[in-house]
Amino acid sequence: MSANTKRVLIIEDEVALAEIVEAYLHRDGFETSHQIDGNNILALVATGNFDIILLDVMLPDVDGFQLCRMIRNVSVIPIIMMTARVEEIDRLIGLELGADDYICKPYSPREVVARVKAVLRRHAPVSTADARLVKTLEIDAEAFILRVLGKKIDLTPSEFKLVAALGEKPGRVWSRSQLLDVFMDDKDVFDRTIDSHIKNIRKKIGLVFPELDLIQSVYGIGYRIEI
Ligand code: CA
Repeated sequence: MSANTKRVLIIEDEVALAEIVEAYLHRDGFETSHQIDGNNILALVATGNFDIILLDVMLPDVDGFQLCRMIRNVSVIPIIMMTARVEEIDRLIGLELGADDYICKPYSPREVVARVKAVLRRHAPVSTADARLVKTLEIDAEAFILRVLGKKIDLTPSEFKLVAALGEKPGRVWSRSQLLDVFMDDKDVFDRTIDSHIKNIRKKIGLVFPELDLIQSVYGIGYRIEI
């Protein structure tokens, strides 16, 4: 096994189906592991042994939606959901579970392999040295890209500068005047501007993750990012 071998965790109760997908993935150089239910999934994810998860929605012991949320709470690992019911696709999109893609059954194994590759490509860090990867937050200062739980959040350059500053040391409290220093070259930025930038950043993250309280106000002082 080379260091670049990607490992796929398949959670699927239909054994025959999983075996076909595994065979196609193996042919393309992937390693796979198959689970027929949701047992111990969080422990498996925590081992860090997997690069991507293929997750069936209809499992005997646990709802795949619920499982997806549980995994997302602890990991940014890419997840592709698989469902036999077209109406579930709407739920998948609407729920913002943090899944990266979904595949409708019946599918061709080739399609699954193609999706796995596409999602892994999208998740490849732009530059490992410059992308500061923390559990929920990924700040790529070179490409001006912010990802929260693997999802790209489009920010203005000013908003990005603020997040990059806050994200440098999660948990550290920044005063408004310290954050103003981020904009040294920009004379039009005042205290209030910081507040309105923060408001906009929260709104943008909130659209994707309504329950995530990433940027916190510290009363009388300023802000911090809590991961
Ligand atoms: Ca199933």
